Amino acid sequence: MLIFKETADLKHFINSQPSPIGFIPTMGALHQGHLSLIQKASQECKITVCSIFVNPTQFNDPSDFEKYPVTLDQDILLLNQVRTDVLFLPSVKEMYPDGLGKLTQYDIGYLDTILDGKFRPGHFNGVCNIVETLLRAVDPDKLYMGEKDFQQCLVVKRLIELMKCDIELITCPTRRENNGLAMSSRNERLSKAAREKASAIYYCLHSIKEDMKKRSFDELRTHYTNYLQTNGFETEYLLLADANNLHMLEDFDVARKMVILIATKLEGVRLIDNLRIN
Ligand code: AMP
Repeated sequence: MLIFKETADLKHFINSQPSPIGFIPTMGALHQGHLSLIQKASQECKITVCSIFVNPTQFNDPSDFEKYPVTLDQDILLLNQVRTDVLFLPSVKEMYPDGLGKLTQYDIGYLDTILDGKFRPGHFNGVCNIVETLLRAVDPDKLYMGEKDFQQCLVVKRLIELMKCDIELITCPTRRENNGLAMSSRNERLSKAAREKASAIYYCLHSIKEDMKKRSFDELRTHYTNYLQTNGFETEYLLLADANNLHMLEDFDVARKMVILIATKLEGVRLIDNLRIN
């Protein structure tokens, strides 16, 4: 695996490579969820590029940024195991030469007013800034992202439209621990007991899906929000939406593709997950 730290060197290398180029942007502390994206890209592309960059501008909570796990040596080992061709490892200066104060403002519209857009002000604008910079550096044909970050996938789809570029966004299923907990770098910050307890998130999503024919979404939401609270979770949202556009739904509508989305905190660690219905 080649490692580049500077955009110019990366571009120079990519220019001489055959297409399609597949790209997987990450913030490191890699797990099987990340690796599944890389494996899919390797199957479909001639060259697979992964980036690791903990993007400061997408953290609305400074302590979340400071505590974000960094496991670079282990990440490099894992990337070599799945035969990644290129790792792009830029510095903050390389990604934000004009400083962190000078961000591009993106018109993400409705998507920025709901769910993580609402609870993490500025988060998606930070995501768009770094994803555009990375896409311009790598210039991939295919971009691989995880459905675990469901709203982020729609935001990046919008970004690609705004950029008017020809990049195919491929969304990949969420990888889970054996107990159902969605794999996440932030899981590293949970105690062993909390990591077990956090399986309650998937249990709730799954139970809501199972019970959708028997009870209204509102009843189920109240029930499972209380269940989570009793178990030490602090839930920001538990909502039902149209999976195509994230328009909120009051109740189940079997004529639509739906998704249940949750953000909840355990031991101060913010965890998100979602489950599609239909
Ligand atoms: P992150 O390092 O958290 O920014 O994630 C990098 C990419 O990996 C994003 O596209 C995520 O959606 C994806 N990803 C994170 N966790 C998972 C998971 N459990 N399963 C599949 N993809 C994931």
